[in-house]
Amino acid sequence: MGRHTEAKCKLCRRESTKLFLKGDRCYSARCAMNRRANPPGQHGKFRRRPTIFSRHLREKQKVKRMYGIRESQFRGYVETAKKWKGVTGEALLRTLESRMDNIVYRAGFASSRDQARQLINHGHFLVNGRHTNVPSYLVQEGDMIEVKPESKDHLREGIKAAADRRALPGWLSRDLETLRLQLTGQPTPEEMDRSIEVNLIVEFYSR
Ligand code: SF4
Repeated sequence: MGRHTEAKCKLCRRESTKLFLKGDRCYSARCAMNRRANPPGQHGKFRRRPTIFSRHLREKQKVKRMYGIRESQFRGYVETAKKWKGVTGEALLRTLESRMDNIVYRAGFASSRDQARQLINHGHFLVNGRHTNVPSYLVQEGDMIEVKPESKDHLREGIKAAADRRALPGWLSRDLETLRLQLTGQPTPEEMDRSIEVNLIVEFYSR
């Protein structure tokens, strides 16, 4: 199945939370969640109390949509996280945060993960000096990502505008002059998205 093409704002309304899928609009008063936060559809306002299963399902869907990942790949991340030592949920979130499209977005080099994916697909970035156009590439601590020299003039203004709007996480560093960023550490549990109930996701795939 291909990537979800349903209107992005409907996905936020479905999950009853902002997923930040549309860049600048998400930070403005035009965000659909400010105007109509109920789930889409004729009966959206009259949803019944969620079952345990639906809570697990919705949390999984929420995170999958937030990071823009297909089901098979998401399931693969969960299975890999289960094999790691330590807490499975934390390992899963660390993996998601290590994806190159997420790092480019978190560093403020793109206004959404979708835009980050597009920039990476179009070959605008180097990782440790090598061309990398795979959004799911898992960035390692110490890796240096930079806009390739031929793209710097073209992307500089957009990156500065996007970076101005967002705080830089403590586990990333960036240089807006050279358009370089580096993964300097790993997000701690406290720095991860506290709105994600990752245990529900692990339980969903453990049924
Ligand atoms: Fe979601 Fe609001 Fe962004 Fe639409 S504008 S994708 S509702 S956060």
